[in-house]
Amino acid sequence: MNVYYTPRMLGPPQASSPSAHKPRLVVESWLALAPKLNLIEPAPVTVEQLCLAHDRDFVTGILAGRLLNGFGNTSRDVATSLPYTSGAMLAAARGAIAQRTATIAPCSGFHHASFDEASGFCTFNGLMVTARVLLTEGLAHRVGIFDADMHYGDGTDDILAQTGETRVEHCTVGENYTDPSQAETFLQRLPMMLRRFEGCDVLLYQAGADPHIDDPLGGWLTDEQLALRDRIVFEHCAARQLPVAWNLAGGYQEPLRKVLDIHDHTLRECLRVYDPDGASGWLSSSI
Ligand SMILES: [Zn+2]
Repeated sequence: MNVYYTPRMLGPPQASSPSAHKPRLVVESWLALAPKLNLIEPAPVTVEQLCLAHDRDFVTGILAGRLLNGFGNTSRDVATSLPYTSGAMLAAARGAIAQRTATIAPCSGFHHASFDEASGFCTFNGLMVTARVLLTEGLAHRVGIFDADMHYGDGTDDILAQTGETRVEHCTVGENYTDPSQAETFLQRLPMMLRRFEGCDVLLYQAGADPHIDDPLGGWLTDEQLALRDRIVFEHCAARQLPVAWNLAGGYQEPLRKVLDIHDHTLRECLRVYDPDGASGWLSSSI
């Protein structure tokens, strides 16, 4: 199982969102669970690739530290990390397509980033950057984005509207499902929701941790329901040989261990489906 990670994805130590440091902590936690995970260093995306999804003045202003990033500051350290977070998502998607399997990018901070504005801890929309690069290069003719974060992926919808891109199938769970009373209905409907990605060459899956019922910014799915969400997605993709690249998105519980546990559960569900023989070392080490 390939995980696309580099320490260059990390934000500065003083960043105001846990997502800035989460990649390293998540990867450490995953390696304890599956010691033979294959870590691959992603290349950063280029300015031209970022401009496929964003306004050029916005891209250059962010990278130069002139415009406010998703944390509401102009930190050069954040700016330096951003091409690597989107780069991890792109590399994971490329890997998923090439090997027709599941891959992982331990990154966050994408879906509130709109065409020309950062918002809600999100600066560049790595989902849309990835989709547009794949479509431009002809590696995909249609890209699915299944955004299972707590919150509506408004930035993704904005970029789709501003660029006129019609080759992306976008489903954002937070648009319609936010309450514990909807959990059972959501899980029952999920297989049907995923059918809209038929015809896509790859699925980008945001396995958000903030829908957890105890999350201070979320609150509607239990541990078991989150694990079932992930299982349904991975089983759906595997049964249809739909390559899937997944990432983290939000998760704000404290201590952070609670969020890491949710990401561990997602990894477990992925490994159950895609690594049943335990090549990643997870069978002997974890359960
Ligand atoms: Zn969120």
